[in-house]
Order: sequence, then structure tokens, then C-alpha cells
Amino acid sequence: TERLKAGLSKTRDKLGKQFAGLFGGGKIDEDLYEELEAVLLTADMGVSATQHLLDDVRKRVSLRGLKDASELKGALKDALLDLIGPLEKPLDLQRAAPLVIMMAGVNGAGKTTSIGKLAKYFQTLDKRVLLAAGDTFRAAAREQLAEWGTRNNVTVVSQQGGDAAAVCYDAIQAAIARKIDIVLADTAGRLPTQLHLMEEIKKVKRVCNKALPDAPHEILLVLDANIGQNAVQQVKAFDDALGLTGLILTKLDGTAKGGAIAAIARERPIPMYFIGVGETLDDLRPFSARDYVDALFD
Ligand code: GDP
Repeated sequence: TERLKAGLSKTRDKLGKQFAGLFGGGKIDEDLYEELEAVLLTADMGVSATQHLLDDVRKRVSLRGLKDASELKGALKDALLDLIGPLEKPLDLQRAAPLVIMMAGVNGAGKTTSIGKLAKYFQTLDKRVLLAAGDTFRAAAREQLAEWGTRNNVTVVSQQGGDAAAVCYDAIQAAIARKIDIVLADTAGRLPTQLHLMEEIKKVKRVCNKALPDAPHEILLVLDANIGQNAVQQVKAFDDALGLTGLILTKLDGTAKGGAIAAIARERPIPMYFIGVGETLDDLRPFSARDYVDALFD
């Protein structure tokens, strides 16, 4: 968790100082709850999660008969853990072979980088991985993936100027023929408001399903933590269009808006499979609610 703490240092710095002020001493009273509300809102937890946490903390305080501000921390940690706990779910890699994982997200969210990190991670679990260069709009994305594949001895299925659905279809066919365990399919960045691009990614999904029944088994939305609670809107829009099975929250290391996880948990609780807390391969890690809460407060 030291690495996680370092990765969350911006959120920790900001929240930690404010919490230290809150939990420092004195009585638990309405002023303190008001201050707590302000702190949760500045951490980008959003109105709904903040209200929910405040109500939950009040209940815990009254049940436990807490009086002193220093005791508030434990109640808040427990409330937050209850809220975000349901987001913690391991990715089930056994349920199909090949398991087809499709990535979605806006430009620059970290899709291509996360695919490289995930491929490495799956290889350490002795899985045979194949990549589909489904971002057919940006030559750079295709090159980035190809380079990554060469360095790590992973096949990358790609087509120059091709169509994303066709690339993914070919990749799945190749994966079946080669007894690959996991297909990671990149897709072009898009905003949920770009309706023609949303239609394109829906088509990728349909065509994956033609290549292999039940595919794509996972549709993961990659989110940049810097957008804070706006992540909720993005999650809802992509989920409504595609039916997401999981989330990856990247760049938590670069932001103090780590509270967005609470907002997502409150408003669209889709499993948060991985969080990104830095640039290296090890910095994409399975999400642990307990570790996350501990890293924020301790
Ligand atoms: P894509 O357009 O969604 O494929 O985004 P990329 O994978 O190209 O990533 C955009 C930038 O974000 C790159 O410079 C990555 O190195 C960077 N990046 C991705 N994930 C993380 C992370 O968890 N932490 C940090 N600090 N940078 C990240």
C-alpha cells in the first residue's frame, strides 16, 4: 500500500490536511458536519455521495454514542468503505477462452496504455494474450500498440485504414485458431455525445458477438480521474449505450479528485476492476476498497 499511498498523494495531501483539521479535537456538532460536507465536496465526491456519507456517519455516531471529533474518522472510514466496497470485484479470467475484453473511452483517457499494462499483467498470470488494434482512426495508436506487442512478444492484429469491427473480428478468429486466452481490443477515443462514433462502437460490439457467442465478455470504460465527478456522466452515457461490465480509473496519481470513486459508487456502481496510480506497469493495479480507504486516511 506504500505505492498506492504515493500514487494517491495528491488526493491525500488535499484531504489529509482538511481531515486533520476536522478530526483534530473538539465536539461533534453541526458545525463539524458542515465542515465535513465541504471537505467531501471538494474531493469531488459529488452531492449525492456526500449526502449519503453524512447521513451514514450521523447514524454511526449516534449508534456508537460518539462525542469527540477525533472519533469521527473511524465512522467516516467505515461509511466510505460500505459505499465503495461493492465496486471491488476481481476480473474473472476463467469464464471463457478466448476471453474478449473491449476497451472504450474518450481520447487520452489511457486506453492504449492500460492495454499494454493489462497485457503484461495477464502474462504474469500465464495467460496467452492477443491485442486487436481497433483504434483505426489514429495511426499513432496502432503504432503504439504494435511497438508494445513487439517488445513483449504479443501478437497484434491490425489493419491499415481498416474498420474497427473487422479488426476485432479477425483478432477473435486468430485468437480461437491460436488458443489464445485473452483478447484485448483497443477502440478509438470518442465522446458519448458523438453519436455516429457511438454507433461505430456498438457495431464493434455486435461484430465481436458474431465472431464468438457471448463476446465481448467484458466492456471496460477507461476514465481519466482528472475529470473528477464528471466521471459519473461519462459512466452513465457509455453504460446506457454499450452496457459496461467494468471500469478502469487512470491517472489517480495526477489529481486530488480521487473522491470521484464515491460518486460513481453512489450513482452507477459498476465494478472498478483497476486503478492507475502512475506510469509504470505495476501502477495499474486491481482496485481494493479497503486499501483505497486506508491510503486516503492513514
Ligand atoms: P488513449 O487515447 O485512451 O489510448 O490514451 P493513452 O493510453 O494514449 O494515454 C494518454 C496519456 O496518459 C499517456 O501519456 C499515458 O502515459 C498517460 N497515462 C495513462 N494512464 C496513466 C496513469 O495511471 N497515470 C499517469 N500519470 N499517466 C497515465
